[in-house]
Amino acid sequence: MTDFSHLIREANLIDGQWVAADDGGTIDVTNPADGTVIARVPNSGATETQRAINSAHTAFPEYAAMPLSERVALMRRLHDAILDNHEAMAAMLTAEQGKPLSEARGEVASSAAYVLWFAEEARRTNGAIIPAPIPGRKLLTTRHPVGVVAAITPWNFPSSMLGRKLGPALAAGCTTIVKPASATPLSGLVWGHLAEQCGFPRGTVNVLTGSARLIGGEITSNPKVAKITFTGSTAIGKQLLAEAASTVKRMSMELGGNAPFIVFDDADLEKAVAGAIIAKFRNAGQTCICTNRLYVQSGIYDRFASAFSKAVSDLKVAPGNEEGAEQGPLIDAAALEKISDFVADAKAKGGEVITGGAPHSRGGLFYQPTVIADATADMRFSTEEIFGPIAPLYRFDTEDEAINAANDTDYGLAAYAYTRDIGRVFRLQDRLEYGLIGINEVLIVSPEIPFGGLKESGLGKEGSWQGIDDYLDTKFMCIGGI
Ligand code: NAP
Repeated sequence: MTDFSHLIREANLIDGQWVAADDGGTIDVTNPADGTVIARVPNSGATETQRAINSAHTAFPEYAAMPLSERVALMRRLHDAILDNHEAMAAMLTAEQGKPLSEARGEVASSAAYVLWFAEEARRTNGAIIPAPIPGRKLLTTRHPVGVVAAITPWNFPSSMLGRKLGPALAAGCTTIVKPASATPLSGLVWGHLAEQCGFPRGTVNVLTGSARLIGGEITSNPKVAKITFTGSTAIGKQLLAEAASTVKRMSMELGGNAPFIVFDDADLEKAVAGAIIAKFRNAGQTCICTNRLYVQSGIYDRFASAFSKAVSDLKVAPGNEEGAEQGPLIDAAALEKISDFVADAKAKGGEVITGGAPHSRGGLFYQPTVIADATADMRFSTEEIFGPIAPLYRFDTEDEAINAANDTDYGLAAYAYTRDIGRVFRLQDRLEYGLIGINEVLIVSPEIPFGGLKESGLGKEGSWQGIDDYLDTKFMCIGGI
């Protein structure tokens, strides 16, 4: 295992200084694979947050005015610094989060890729010249960084979510405050270390850990914060939207999901099984785009159920840093309990556990990869986000039935379907109420695409040419008397 101790920062980065919480309080960071404490980070509150906001606010005018070529060079340096530390950052991510090392490596690479993408996009934040309806006038728009941006990130992708948030914010010329999830703060604090090393000016990147309620309360109420970019649960997203209303902040929300995975009779069975394994069991089922519900057409149901459950039972459950690990531990005891409750609820309502269905013999936070056949709409996981390694199989007969069931949720983040009928593919595009749709493909995310949910899965897009828009204000000017 690569040593990552040189990347551990057990302090907040506020106004260019690495500092403890005002009262010296700390939060233990544990390795979910074995419960060991790997670091202690500050348990900060509102006053530390206020100082971080003031620092970002003071730094903003100068950073926003920095020549674009210099800003782009800083971003490129940050991209290189992430790749220079790739192995150590991946090892640290696996240690605090639990995901297999191969997935952690992929996540860190993705962090770097987003930074590079936005470094390039910074050069294309064009305004427009608008044809004037009245003679003697020129109409034009210009685009400007919104100001201080606060980024709040979840524990399941603690590194790459900052690629999607710090990437566009810093590229646009905004200054930032980052609050990483308490379970995985190290992968957030390291961005402060790297930004400092790359020469980002004091106050452009502030990172602080601690009480979500106190830090969040200060961020949402402080008028110096122009924008909040949040990735996390829909419940907390709604709370932040309500709290921030009094200061009319710009809000980007990447929230929960409940992804359907539809297998039609004409699907390539082998590819559908391989896709379902990735879409369901990546990060032990703890991703917002993980499939929650697998709808399988009657003509292929038995063959799919048998091949899929065989592949699921072959998954190697092990600590993320063990060779060949395919599923690591869950994040905490509450997650394990929630998964156990989902299985009990499904069994009580007639679901048949055909693989797994119990805590793993490794003990601790490990749970068996699980397949439940004969799932029905009244089971809890039909409407709630599972966020764990349970794959429920629902049988359906018609395309209409599958689409209606797939859309029968408040969420609208990702959906997948396996079919070879080209007409159906376009019907799915029209009718599935989802922001991200994978047809015969599940690894669909990269910096080039507009990532984001519909309905209660969020507001705004991350990545693509749209990803920097939310960090820019448009000003219009009319010049008369020409
Ligand atoms: P969460 O409980 O909503 O927490 C997310 C972040 O919000 C953490 O940093 C958390 O801090 C903070 N937070 C909690 N309460 C807060 C408050 N009152 N004010 C301000 N901040 C607060 O979500 P999670 O359990 O970490 O992450 C899993 C969820 O994220 C799932 O629903 C998943 O679908 C969603 N997610 C969505 C996307 C997407 O792109 N759409 C991507 C990844 C994850 P603490 O850790 O200190 O509590």
